[in-house]
Amino acid sequence: MRQTGQGQELAAGSRIAAQQPEERGGHRRGPGGLDAAQRHAGVFGLDDDADAFRLQAGLEPVGDLLGEPLLQLPLLRVLGPEVSRVFAELHTGHGVDLRFGVQVAEITGNGGRANGVLLTDGSRIGADAVVVGIGITPNVRLADAAGLQVDNGIVVDAHLRTSDPYIYAAGDVANAFHPLLGKHIRVEHWANAVNQPQDAAKAMLGQDVAYDRVPYFFTDQYDLGMEYTGYVEPGGYDEVVFRGRRDTREFIAFWLAEGRVLAGMNVNVWDVTDPIRDLVTSRRPVDATRLADSDVPLTDLLDRPASAV
Ligand SMILES: Cc1cc2nc3c(=O)[nH]c(=O)nc-3n(C[C@H](O)[C@H](O)[C@H](O)COP(=O)(O)OP(=O)(O)OC[C@H]3O[C@@H](n4cnc5c(N)ncnc54)[C@H](O)[C@@H]3O)c2cc1C
Repeated sequence: MRQTGQGQELAAGSRIAAQQPEERGGHRRGPGGLDAAQRHAGVFGLDDDADAFRLQAGLEPVGDLLGEPLLQLPLLRVLGPEVSRVFAELHTGHGVDLRFGVQVAEITGNGGRANGVLLTDGSRIGADAVVVGIGITPNVRLADAAGLQVDNGIVVDAHLRTSDPYIYAAGDVANAFHPLLGKHIRVEHWANAVNQPQDAAKAMLGQDVAYDRVPYFFTDQYDLGMEYTGYVEPGGYDEVVFRGRRDTREFIAFWLAEGRVLAGMNVNVWDVTDPIRDLVTSRRPVDATRLADSDVPLTDLLDRPASAV
């Protein structure tokens, strides 16, 4: 998009008005004035169910997905190359053209309706609809004005207490100290938004509660359903161990460091969240060969850690 004083100029003279990123709950929409973009026919933001339904009404399941510059696979930062390849194949197998290392220069339009995207490499993608999914930044304006410590969200301790002992924060906006991981993490997932407030409420009532749940999220993409349990910094693992079949997309992937399971992701395999969480929280080294063997119950790996095999 070409930024002008009055907003983002579209081809053929139409324009998306400039505005502050709209406050939407505990987070703010990313740059780009998505609310205005939604009013402009054919450009969709992705914030909530209503956005999804609006989009569903007019979209065929083929399109282009622009990836983060410099990353050559989708979800690479979160999943690493071994597993993000599975998602790349999933999407390309459904007719999605993934493009990386290139940015949007301009959303082109005609008569007030978006008709494509001009990329920084000079190429142009024609489109009936443009979907803008560019992430969020936490809205810390109120916390900032209140003088709370803010750093990648509102900084809270393990009790979800801010730098003001009478104020608590939870959910997407909270950068919380995690006792198991020994560091602050900010999690943008539903389970975290559901569970953290309960512990914050208990802490407010004077109970000695520390939020130490292992991060968890789920997603369904086409016929792939997955759950991810654990936490791995980008590049913060030694190896990925697969159990099951990647070719039919029925497997569990485990991220290990020094033989310990940091996280596990079950893909089209169900009812394994509890043992995966137990493997993560135990922090005990496991035998990678047995971890990869679907005939070995996951619970057995906890009974006999690698050092005992
Ligand atoms: C498109 C999309 C897809 C997603 N998919 C998944 C998924 O597949 N799996 C998953 O686990 N997670 C997913 N998420 C993430 C998940 O939806 C969020 O982590 C979760 O909704 C965050 O909840 P929250 O309550 O922390 O924040 P929010 O949902 O942002 O809610 C904050 C609330 O605070 C209120 N508020 C804010 N400021 C004030 C104020 N000053 N005064 C009063 N009220 C205020 C707002 O009105 C709002 O109701 C997705 C998110 C998006 C946008």
